[in-house]
Amino acid sequence: MEKILVVLFTQEDGSLGRTAFEATGAALGLAKELDGASVTIGIAGTSIQEAANALAGSGAEKILGAEAAELAQPRYATDAAAAEALAKAAGATIIVAPGTSRWNRIAAGVAHRLGGRADTHATSLAVHEGAPTITRWYYRQRMVAKLSRTNRPWVVSLDPGAVPAWSGEPSQATVEKVALSMPETAARTEVIGVEAPEAGAQTIRPEAETLLVTGAGWTKKQADGQIHLKEAEAAIMDFLRQTKASLGSSKSLVDQEGEGQAVLPFLTHMNQIGQTGSTPRHAKGLATCCHGEEPHVVGWRFITERRAVNLDANCGWAQGKADVLYVADAFEVMKKLNDLLAEKAPATPES
Ligand SMILES: Cc1cc2nc3c(=O)[nH]c(=O)nc-3n(C[C@H](O)[C@H](O)[C@H](O)COP(=O)(O)OP(=O)(O)OC[C@H]3O[C@@H](n4cnc5c(N)ncnc54)[C@H](O)[C@@H]3O)c2cc1C
Repeated sequence: MEKILVVLFTQEDGSLGRTAFEATGAALGLAKELDGASVTIGIAGTSIQEAANALAGSGAEKILGAEAAELAQPRYATDAAAAEALAKAAGATIIVAPGTSRWNRIAAGVAHRLGGRADTHATSLAVHEGAPTITRWYYRQRMVAKLSRTNRPWVVSLDPGAVPAWSGEPSQATVEKVALSMPETAARTEVIGVEAPEAGAQTIRPEAETLLVTGAGWTKKQADGQIHLKEAEAAIMDFLRQTKASLGSSKSLVDQEGEGQAVLPFLTHMNQIGQTGSTPRHAKGLATCCHGEEPHVVGWRFITERRAVNLDANCGWAQGKADVLYVADAFEVMKKLNDLLAEKAPATPES
């Protein structure tokens, strides 16, 4: 009989992030498929009642809470101690966690303390041939494997955006408190601030429905023999402002700064999508002025609906890599698109 425990850390304001609801949904789904399995939710933070209330209607057998002032900041020693205490109190055989940086940092350590095993970056959790099984991608998202383990406890962290989030109305939850004992030295590491790259903070939005990808074509000579950087910048930023889409880029475009070529100032390597970039998850993607070569498109693995705008009818996107290819000038398409968006809902200044 599996005892499934979801371990969640509250956010700064005491609420839970989307990934917490995803992990809860995955744990509940797994329990449904396993005879006699139960789900317990364990929440750690400085004050956890609000988070517990949010999950009160989930159908979990019980909610455990570990509260301590030291949990206000993500930190290996205190986070691992809280997760360990919750796992021991629940007698957990499977520990499901959101694959946030906070959890992935402690997953292996917590498993080791409990004498178990850990797998991070799982993209699903289900029963296969009678056993709890995860899926995980390898080799830059080119190969997918199904993995199952007999070792217990088994710590599994799920990649953000990979599974549907549980949703339900909040209500008053009963929380069973779990005592934490941490040595004084546990809190000696202190977070003194967060430095986010300016461009990344503004343009990379993992929660966005749409991904806009920009390619090197935006900075190349156009039909009139000129480069139109200002127009490119305006069209891209206008689209992002109006749609709140996330901004991705090809490698060629973000590499240009180092090569002394014309650049779009808001792009950094953080925006790069592909084999040596990121593999984001968005419902829709629109590639503009990007050729659609394999090392780039491999980063689109989890984009559900793919469209591209390219002058070249034989570009990579036309080779079965996009659902729709518009053979057109992206400068014109984006201008028209921005005009239509503005007609539909007038843009607010700087949002
Ligand atoms: C080991 C390795 C790893 C790599 N990893 C990555 C990676 O992670 N991510 C990545 O992106 N690349 C990666 N690459 C590079 C990749 O192979 C391509 O070189 C790169 O993606 C090309 O970028 P691009 O499409 O923006 O530029 P280009 O190939 O220069 O294409 C520009 C496109 O813009 C179009 N265009 C120009 N003007 C317009 C216009 N007005 N309207 C519409 N279209 C227009 C052109 O037709 C052209 O198709 C990798 C390569 C290697 C060897």
